[in-house]
Amino acid sequence: STEYNLSITVVGASGDLAKKKIFPALFALYYEDCLPENFIIFGYARTKMTDEELRNTISKTLTCRIDKRENCEDKMDQFLKRCFYHSGQYNSEDHFAELNCKLKEKEGGRLSNRLFYLSVPPNIFVDVVRCASLKASSEKGWTRVIVEKPFGRDSESSSELTKCLKQYLSEEQIFRIDHYLGKELVENLSVLRFSNLVFEPLWSRSYIRSVQLIFSEDFGTEGRGGYFDNYGIIRDIMQNHLLQILALFAMEPPVSLDAEDIRNEKVKVLRSMIPLLLENVVVGQYKGHSKDGKSYPGYTDDPTVPNGSITPTFAAAALFINNARWDGVPFLMKAGKALHTRRAEIRVQFRHVPGNLYKRNFGTDLDKATNELVLRVQPDEAIYLKINNKVPGLGMRLDRSDLNLLFRARYPCEIPDAYERLLLDAIEGERRLFIRSDELDAAWALFTPLLKELENKKITPELYPYGSRGPVGAHYLAAKHNVRWGDLGNED
Ligand code: NAP
Repeated sequence: STEYNLSITVVGASGDLAKKKIFPALFALYYEDCLPENFIIFGYARTKMTDEELRNTISKTLTCRIDKRENCEDKMDQFLKRCFYHSGQYNSEDHFAELNCKLKEKEGGRLSNRLFYLSVPPNIFVDVVRCASLKASSEKGWTRVIVEKPFGRDSESSSELTKCLKQYLSEEQIFRIDHYLGKELVENLSVLRFSNLVFEPLWSRSYIRSVQLIFSEDFGTEGRGGYFDNYGIIRDIMQNHLLQILALFAMEPPVSLDAEDIRNEKVKVLRSMIPLLLENVVVGQYKGHSKDGKSYPGYTDDPTVPNGSITPTFAAAALFINNARWDGVPFLMKAGKALHTRRAEIRVQFRHVPGNLYKRNFGTDLDKATNELVLRVQPDEAIYLKINNKVPGLGMRLDRSDLNLLFRARYPCEIPDAYERLLLDAIEGERRLFIRSDELDAAWALFTPLLKELENKKITPELYPYGSRGPVGAHYLAAKHNVRWGDLGNED
């Protein structure tokens, strides 16, 4: 409504995430006419800055999509005029009261909803939430708070954080972001499954042999190892992003597309998972490596990483869901830094064709003939299905081919960044893509015993060269469950 005001406060506005992701996403929403007519944005951090200085800094990171370059400069100017800055401490109720005065002034007496984006280190969350909720909550409209991971580092610290946040906020006010859930292909997973006839009937142990969730980065910590070393790859990527994708992938059909219905189904899957055994996990760490006259640093060469750190920068795990649909199907996860490629994908490997009439065309390796459905989340979004096809011509030669939906070719417009979707959802009160506290508890319950065992037993990670395909142990892990990693075939 035009009468309502929306005030967004980015707490930690001087930081990297605010500059790189949050302000550009807010601008994109403004450009797409997704923000209400009366909106203002405040940056808040300790760093001293004027409104002008904030505008200068963020103006450097705003961009217009290629297909929408018209009036781009004007739009940016108009957007920047709505951005303000207030400097203050994160634990000072007085400073948030000052922010409240400034917000009120700019809101011009209109009824206002307030959204706080916490883009600060997690040890400050509770202070900010206390000060903001006590001193800068909306008086008549809603007040919502977006928080970024990490949500604790194990079950205990996570529930402690939830408990503290809930002293000041209700569950409905807390929006826990997992930015993977805002990615186009992850959103599309449910569409693919529930709006096509051809996939859902196959979505079970009867037809699916393994599901693989793969995340790889082609760079290391590069001087940001201080944060990472305290968490490691399992907490940084698996316990949240990959497990969220798994839950969406494996859930039963929800009653409706309502946030609560979807999240109920996700929690059920998470709670049906079999405890993760150390024998089903491989951890790795990248080491220095020279290639073509160039040398690449190892993880412990990063000056921000403590000497002798055994924090994993790579992990592979085989997980199982104890329910009728998925009994015995390995869900293989793999996540690593400093690997040979940058990629996030979901790979579904189907079973062999029973009594395959064309068996002899595949030689001894029937695995090469199985169908595989791949959802490439990033980069270069795509969905493709590997099928067997006859090579045209006389005789009978079979070929592995792809039914290929490459998004770039089919949908030439630029795909919105995950942060745009998530910010818009938080503004609209759509909670589907945010993590409810019972989901978070279930996710930690699965990983906490493993993390403790790794740490108590001081399990040393298997070293792998920077830029390689990761430790060999990951291959053995897959082989133990009678499958192969789909991303290591020759075909892609
Ligand atoms: P950041 O740059 O390290 O921190 C953001 C701001 O918080 C800083 O500009 C600083 O502002 C304040 N701050 C930093 N360390 C502090 C400390 N020890 N005590 C008090 N204030 C401190 O972090 P970021 O990369 O923007 O990320 C923000 C949050 O999002 C973090 O919690 C991070 O874990 C999470 N996250 C980041 C990314 C990413 O891509 N960067 C991705 C996912 C999640 P002032 O000094 O001006 O107060």
